Amino acid sequence: MNNLDSIFAFNRQFVCEHSYEPYRTTRYPDKRMVIVTCMDTRLTELLPKALNLRNGDAKMIKNAGGIVTQPFGNIARSVLIAIYELQADEVLIIGHRDCGMTGINPEHIVDSMLERGVSEHTVHTLRSSGIDLMRWLRGFNNLKESVENSVRIISNHPLLPAGVPVHGLIIDSETGELELVTDGYAALGNKPLMF
Ligand code: ZN
Repeated sequence: MNNLDSIFAFNRQFVCEHSYEPYRTTRYPDKRMVIVTCMDTRLTELLPKALNLRNGDAKMIKNAGGIVTQPFGNIARSVLIAIYELQADEVLIIGHRDCGMTGINPEHIVDSMLERGVSEHTVHTLRSSGIDLMRWLRGFNNLKESVENSVRIISNHPLLPAGVPVHGLIIDSETGELELVTDGYAALGNKPLMF
């Protein structure tokens, strides 16, 4: 049985037995939070458990590294939609220890692409049309700085409404222990009011 078959076999039983009942909720986050974090497999269940989050408590946005790379990219857009359309009024950026994006080597990734059949011509064409693959595929060297940078991009976003705290945290991938990097409440207090 392949993965898809086993997923469907399980799913039919899941629905049939009404196993979804404990997870029923609304589209609006009960704890009014939106979280940006990493797609790391160790965090799938650990992160919600370690933060006491249940189904329906928070919007969860994931990517490789839990990084916000640009103010008008996909992640920032999702954060703003969560705030304006889905009743989130607090943002948490959560990086994690031992992240696969730490010290990632973009050149190595491109080499792997070539080995797996992507042609040199394709890579060259992308580069000559202005796509900087090295920049696009880069990770980060310093986890704390990466979290701070993502917090900065969201908290300085020109479309972020006033009064929305943006916190930066680091979670341990083994124990779930949290470390505070940026206290969004304190940062709000220090922000000059705009009139
Ligand atoms: Zn990670």
